[in-house]
Formats: sequence, C-alpha cells, structure tokens
Amino acid sequence: MSVCTAAVAPAICAPLPVLGGDVTVPLATGGEVAYAALDYAASAPALRRVWDDVAAYAPYYGSVHRGAGHLSQLSTDLFENARRTVAGFLDCRADDQVVFTRSTTDSLNLLAAALPAGCQVFVFETEHHASLLPWRDARVTFLDAPRSPRQAVETLRRALAARAPHGSALVCVTGASNVTGELWPVRELAATAHAHGARIVLDAAQLAPHHPVSVRDLDVDWVALSGHKLYAPFGSGVLAGRADWLREAEPYLAGGGASRRVTRRADGGVDVEWHDSAARHEAGSPNVIGAYALASACEALTEAGFDTLVAREQYLIGRVRAGLAEVPEVRVLSLFGDDAPRVGVISFVVEGWNSSHFAAALSAEYGIGVRDGLFCAHPLVRTLLGGEPRTPGECAAPGAAPGERSLNAVRVSFGAGTPDEHVERFVGAVRELVRDGAKLRYRTRDGRCVPAV
Ligand code: PLP
Repeated sequence: MSVCTAAVAPAICAPLPVLGGDVTVPLATGGEVAYAALDYAASAPALRRVWDDVAAYAPYYGSVHRGAGHLSQLSTDLFENARRTVAGFLDCRADDQVVFTRSTTDSLNLLAAALPAGCQVFVFETEHHASLLPWRDARVTFLDAPRSPRQAVETLRRALAARAPHGSALVCVTGASNVTGELWPVRELAATAHAHGARIVLDAAQLAPHHPVSVRDLDVDWVALSGHKLYAPFGSGVLAGRADWLREAEPYLAGGGASRRVTRRADGGVDVEWHDSAARHEAGSPNVIGAYALASACEALTEAGFDTLVAREQYLIGRVRAGLAEVPEVRVLSLFGDDAPRVGVISFVVEGWNSSHFAAALSAEYGIGVRDGLFCAHPLVRTLLGGEPRTPGECAAPGAAPGERSLNAVRVSFGAGTPDEHVERFVGAVRELVRDGAKLRYRTRDGRCVPAV
C-alpha cells in the first residue's frame, strides 16, 4: 500500500529531498539494497536544501565577529541572520535571546549553569538523559512517570504546590518523547508552572523536526533543540528564551567573544566585563556553518509547510502502527495509550526476540537502520518494559547486567525525508522476521549484535 492513494492529497506524497536516498548497502544474505534510514530520532539525514546552502556559502566562509575583511563581515551577517531566522522559526518573543550551542544537551547544560542560586528543578523521570541529568547542583525533584497527559499536569501541579513558596523554580519537559513519540501537554504544563511561580524549559529535540514550535503560543520560557535532528547535521544547537537568567549568569565558557572588555588590575589580576547578549555564552569562534545550516533547515521546513509535513508523517505513523498491530508478538511501548497524539518515533519489543538481535536482522537482511537499546531514557524504558519476560536470543543485550532481564527495545523513527517504501519495507520485514525467523545466525561482537558469518 502506498501513501499516494487516491484518498490522499498529492501534496503529501513527496518526501522532502534528503541526502543518502540513493545510498545502497550490502545485505549479509547477498546483494545490495537502498538503505532505509529509520533512525531519525537519533540523527536525521541532511536536507538536500541545507547541504546545497552550505555548499554555496562555503567559499565565502570567514571568521565571525572578528575580521574587517569582506568575507568576515558576510559571515558575521549570515550568523546573526541565522539567529533571527531561528527566532522566527520558534516564534520567540521580541526580547528573547537565541544562543547557539552544540546541541540540546549543550543547551540544557548551559541553562543548568545559569540557574539562580537555590533554584528548584522539577523533571519527570521519563525524560531523555539530556533533560534528566544536567541539574546536578540544583535541588531536583524527579516526578513519577504519568500515565496520561492529564496525570502529568496533575503530578506537576501537586509537586509545585508542595514546594516552599519562595525562591526560583524550573520545570524541564520534553515536547515529544524520544521513546514513544507521544506528545506532552506542554501548554498546560507551562500554565501550571507559571501559576506556581516556576519557569519552564521545553526540550524540543524531538518535537521541532515534526511540529511547529511557538514559544509564545506554548508560553514556555526556553526551548532547546539540536540541528542534527532537524536535518542540519553540522554540530549546532539552540537555547532560545528569556534573557534575564542568562544575562545574570557567569558565562558558560570563559573566553574571547563572550568578553566586552578585559583589563589588568593593579594587583596583577584581570577584570572582565562580559557581554549581556547571547554572545556571553558563545565564547570562542562560533560554528557559523552549523548556525547557517540550522537556519536553512528552519526555512526549508517552514516553506514546505508543517501542515503538509504533519499530514504525511501521520500517514506514515498510521502505516507503521497498523503493520505492527497485525503481528501479535509485537508490543508497542506507550505511556499515554493508543489514542495519544504522537510523532514518527515508535518503540517496541517482539516476544521471543532479543531487541538487539531483531535490530541486527533488520539491518543485515533488509538494509533497514533502526536503533535498539534504552535510548538514553533508561528510567522510562525500564518503566515501559517492567515485567517483560526475559527474551531469549544469541545476542546478549548490550549493557544488561548478568541475571538482569533483557531490558531493551527496538525503535523505528522517521520524518520529512522518509519515502513510504521505507516504512512498507520495515513493516514487511517485521512480519517476515517474526513469521520465519532470521535467515542468519547472529553473535555478539564488541558489544554489538552481528551476523555470525
Ligand atoms: N532530548 C531528547 C528528547 C532527545 O531525543 C535527545 C537525543 O536523542 C536529546 C535531548 C539530546 O540531543 P543531543 O544528543 O543532540 O544533545
């Protein structure tokens, strides 16, 4: 079955052009096949448009904020324009700051370093480790996994109501889960946070590639995202939002670019006047190509139109979910239930299979790239797999302690560049593997499950 049936508007038939669409990979069973990249949640392929923009700019590349030469000025303009483009893409408030970082992880660590003294942090245990772990010096309350969006809001409300009424507080929440793909009630959580005098940061690493994100509309204080999940794999990320905490914090990195004026004191030390702008947290030579690529991706997605992108992706989600539902041995992992709105990220386990073995067979025998493991969200995946019988298989689950259950899952994820053939091949491969078993034998080598041949 194809996405492009008569019942579907032609506009959603075409994936956005991405690099790698014509790459073939060898099959361990013989021959070659076009690679089906179904691990977008880890890193999405580069949009062709992003690649072309970067290639067109590359000859004009120059140092940012430094040089008097023409190309330095051009690069500085492109860098600052990229900041404005990202602010527009995220629908930021006029006085928000857009800080270029390396990734979502970097963005959240930057915010963690900028928390006012004594700030309390509230975070659901279901978060990606990038949201769960950076708050080491803050007082952190880990909230239990909710089983519905409404319970999430209620859990947060109770936790915030119980906190001491003075001092600052921050809630950190994901927009779309990197395990279940489920959307979180961000607007409601933001309203709850604000009603209790707390601020909120949105981890949009998995949301922004799939849905429009409006800082204003969601009323979040900050948003963090990664370029490499947004079709711009050039090592950039963003932290965008309220300027005050960022302005008052020590620079994330100390060095050139962040400092406005440095003077030698009579006692031999130095005095530093730091910038108040985003530059305060961007010390060192910035990643201008990364910022430019990220802005190019923002433009490309905006021009393609999220209505169209979402419609197409929802169709693909429906195909994958329907295909998996036809295989009784497959259990899709979900926190909020079948009807929850979601993005193209689906994790599952297959009865009788070690997930590493299953993912390895999808790769070696079908040329399909998915991911297996705990997806840097260990508490969430363990909660979702709780009570799962130990799965037999030749491959030991990577990281599983002796005697521990095989607590890992398979994740398939896709997006704007995914042709429907990839999801059709995936669904057919799952059906075939469960019905007929793997064609090859597999073993664990260097912690990875690989064909024994
Ligand atoms: N947040 C979520 C929800 C993620 O899925 C990821 C990565 O998978 C991250 C944060 C961290 O992103 P990065 O590795 O780009 O820092």
